[in-house]
Amino acid sequence: MDPDTERMVEILNKIDDVLHCQRCDLALSRTNVVVGSGPLDAKIMLIGEAPGKNEDKKGMPFVGSAGKNLDKLLEEGGVRRENVYITNVVKCRPPENRTPKPDEIQACHPYLQKQIETIKPSGVILLGKTAAEAVLGRKVEMGLEHGTVVEKDYVRYMIMYHPAAMIYKRTLKDTITGDFKNIRELLDN
Ligand code: URA
Ligand code: SF4
Repeated sequence: MDPDTERMVEILNKIDDVLHCQRCDLALSRTNVVVGSGPLDAKIMLIGEAPGKNEDKKGMPFVGSAGKNLDKLLEEGGVRRENVYITNVVKCRPPENRTPKPDEIQACHPYLQKQIETIKPSGVILLGKTAAEAVLGRKVEMGLEHGTVVEKDYVRYMIMYHPAAMIYKRTLKDTITGDFKNIRELLDN
């Protein structure tokens, strides 16, 4: 584990023993708890849905094909991956990559809350509908709200399509790329 991850684990352990967490049923099928990656003083934070197969195996977020897309999108937005903090609304992989359930998202929420409080980012990018709805606590219509910035509890959030969306829906590629070209908006406040 790199020093940033070690430090984050230490912080999250104040809530519970995060690397051995049993707060929801996702504990039963995971291999590794995927806490997050990146510097704890990052200006931009990204929140995805849940670890997938590769993430579960490596204990790192966005290392599979969605991760490759994400790296490219960040680059287009003029931001380096190693300068952003990346995590997910649930830290353990759901079986067959199903969408995390509301009770699982709720059980994992204290960790995410603590991460946002620790990093105090200038802005947070919500990757996909699940992350956006979980964090904003309301329904989100991606077709209408993608690319927009909203504020909640003094934190600024940018709603984005999930980087995997451009794998299964090629027509979204230009839209997603266009939205990511505006991410530096989150830096000026
Ligand atoms: N998709 C996500 O939402 N998160 C990951 O960590 C990987 C893929
Ligand atoms: Fe704990 Fe979150 Fe994993 Fe559930 S998903 S077991 S709450 S770390």
